[in-house]
Amino acid sequence: MIIALYPGSFDPVTNGHIDIATRASKLFDKIIVGIFATPEKNLMFSLDERVDMARRALGHLPKIEVKPYSNITVEFAREVNADVLVRGLRMIGDFEWEFEMAMMNQMLSPGLETVCFMASQEYQFLSASLIKEVASLGGDISKLVPRHVAEALKKKGIAKIRK
Ligand code: ADP
Repeated sequence: MIIALYPGSFDPVTNGHIDIATRASKLFDKIIVGIFATPEKNLMFSLDERVDMARRALGHLPKIEVKPYSNITVEFAREVNADVLVRGLRMIGDFEWEFEMAMMNQMLSPGLETVCFMASQEYQFLSASLIKEVASLGGDISKLVPRHVAEALKKKGIAKIRK
């Protein structure tokens, strides 16, 4: 049985993340989508909101379980008995960072393999940060995120305008 951990900030989960998790679930026996509590990013959503949105987005996939974590990723991987770390690679920008992370994780936890999935063509230019920016300016992002995520983004946008 091969257990994979797909870690990230998922702020919020997008169709790009769902695509990677779905494809990974065809290769591995169990996928833990690990939602990191405190990434070095400006977060729009709380940990509970990110977990809840990811659970709703991935609930139809029986091999996938969404779990929050706040320790270092390799430690969380040990806790959930993961053999593999899953990451997604978009054409522009991701490679160097993912390579660096994979090398660091290999040093910290030898034997934990990083497997990168090439982003699908339609999601190459999709990132959670761009989604947040476009949504907060009132742009239509409904083709790029599940409906409940689009609604949550809309609510945050309205809350921002009221402030
Ligand atoms: P991001 O802000 O880039 O969405 P995350 O930390 O949530 O950041 O991403 C977790 C993992 O998912 C990373 O490996 C990232 O490269 C990958 N990923 C993010 N968006 C996409 C996408 N559109 N297609 C494929 N992989 C993606």
